[in-house]
Amino acid sequence: KNDYGLSIWGDGNFLIDGETVNVNHGLSPSLLEITRHIREQGYKGPLLLRFPHLIRKQIDTLFGAFERARREFKYSGKFHAVFPLKVNQYPNFVESLIEVSGRRRYGLEAGSKAELIIAMAKTPLGAPITVNGFKDKEMIALAFIAAKSGHNITLTIEGINELETIIEVHRECNRDASAPITPKIGMRIRLHSTGVGIWAKSGGYSSKFGLTSTELLEAYEMLRQEDLIGSLAMIHFHIGSQMSEIGPLKKALREAGNIYAELKRRGAENLHAINIGGGLAVEYSQHQPSRNYSIKEFANDVVFAMQEIARQKGVEEPDIFTESGRFIAAPHAVLVAPVLELFSQEYHERSLRLKPEGQNPPLVQELYDLYRSLKRTNAREYLHDALDHMESLLTLFDLGYIDLEDRSNTEILVNLIVKKTVTLLERENSDELKRLQNRIQEKYLVNFSIFQSLPDFWGLGQHFPIMPLHRLDQRPSRPASIWDITCDSDGEIPFDPDAPLLLHDIDVEEEEYFLGIFLTGAYQEVLGMRHNLFTHPTEAVIEFDEEGEWSVTGIIEAQNLMDILEDLDYDLGQIDKSLKTQIEDSEHLNETEKQAVLGKLYLYLSENSYLKTIQSRLGGE
Ligand code: PLP
Repeated sequence: KNDYGLSIWGDGNFLIDGETVNVNHGLSPSLLEITRHIREQGYKGPLLLRFPHLIRKQIDTLFGAFERARREFKYSGKFHAVFPLKVNQYPNFVESLIEVSGRRRYGLEAGSKAELIIAMAKTPLGAPITVNGFKDKEMIALAFIAAKSGHNITLTIEGINELETIIEVHRECNRDASAPITPKIGMRIRLHSTGVGIWAKSGGYSSKFGLTSTELLEAYEMLRQEDLIGSLAMIHFHIGSQMSEIGPLKKALREAGNIYAELKRRGAENLHAINIGGGLAVEYSQHQPSRNYSIKEFANDVVFAMQEIARQKGVEEPDIFTESGRFIAAPHAVLVAPVLELFSQEYHERSLRLKPEGQNPPLVQELYDLYRSLKRTNAREYLHDALDHMESLLTLFDLGYIDLEDRSNTEILVNLIVKKTVTLLERENSDELKRLQNRIQEKYLVNFSIFQSLPDFWGLGQHFPIMPLHRLDQRPSRPASIWDITCDSDGEIPFDPDAPLLLHDIDVEEEEYFLGIFLTGAYQEVLGMRHNLFTHPTEAVIEFDEEGEWSVTGIIEAQNLMDILEDLDYDLGQIDKSLKTQIEDSEHLNETEKQAVLGKLYLYLSENSYLKTIQSRLGGE
């Protein structure tokens, strides 16, 4: 059976139970029953399901791995973590994150003023806040307000200019203060080492961020002269997201560890932490594992490297901070998108227009017989015969010897033969099979926008696991490409013969068919674009109680049409008036009809822009 690579990317979070894919938690509800439950309340279009228990699991895994490593190595430095808000700033996510992290003192990282405000409002006092990225005077002043409000906040400087501004704000803010309070200061280093993969640009000498060794020494001197050296608390680096290999991190750790030790020996007595940034990878692959290390190995390598350097250089073992974001957020969200249409349904046995026996061209009759008697043992031979016949039949058509119905029968029969052969030869991993799959791929039109919901696929080709939510007890036979509903040919996930996605042959007029797109909780939501004005899908939080019963909370419906236009700063009053006047002045409608049309129009305006699917079609409006 096809498990859609669940054993590779699923991390035990979901399981296949007969027909459906279920949440492996509590009473294990199927994603299908959760989806139907929400849709029955009238929510249409795609759904983004959030599972806070999966956020908790990732936080526990991260902290657990470092706690074990610290115990094993008898490491005296502490472990801390902050969540980088850029990975997901949505309130339903951030609030769940804070709630499930409980007593762990898990903090937040901010990279802009708006994120800093979220961090200040949501981080429990005492848990760390780190601030990265480019900062102006106001942003630095905000960090001072946070420090004075009691937050444990560290400003990481990315360049000398920022330090000059910090010193300026420090002088202004603390001029008349009885006890001067300044945020802790971190220094981001410009790594010599680089990461690997599509997000590796954050490391290396040409990277956008960080101080060179010369600048580090300069910054150190500036702090000393200002009597702020006691605020220097952290060395920071970030090697790039989604590290597929551990090697480059080990190099970066040695680089950062030695800089920490050098500065400490120089006299930075309160320097006590190394912040290793993010980068911990998520396994998105449905076919071959792409990450070459485990979280245990990751934690052990970090702790071991820090311990070695501290020993060699005779300095105290630093506290370790991580800013892993993708690893924490990606698993919690599943996008559920309904299939609207299959494009080549005409290649169906019922579409054949065969003439009475004896009246079909002999080669068409032969194709029909081949199709009927196709078995695993003769599949390859019959397929080759069929392809041969097709060439001859198409030539016969061009020469005027057979008619359009014969040609249509040829197309259908050959397509059916190829389809059946692909199913019969499925276990072979041959080039011929790949070619055949490519040839008969089906286009599934799916009610979602790739630009909105999978921007990293659109921009960078990042793969996300896709599987149907049901029919999993049946072998899928159709090599699938996924088309979204935007009017843009880039809104497509093409069929990849080397990593084939096979879906079921369904009749969407008769039954619902949903696809789940997994691991979409990191970066995708806020990077999502409103191309064609498709906005963030309706989201719902799924919680489990102590008995394992699930319930849906925190539903936020996708924006309705008028809200979308308001966001673009349209004058809604003017739009409303224009639409109304057009109907009222229409010569095509009588008074009763006008009322009915207006009623309909206002109903439509209250809905979102995604398309209606079978359930809403069958269920009236
Ligand atoms: N920290 C910094 C400074 C970053 O720039 C990023 C992301 O680019 C992260 C942490 C989070 O990285 P990831 O999501 O790969 O864990």
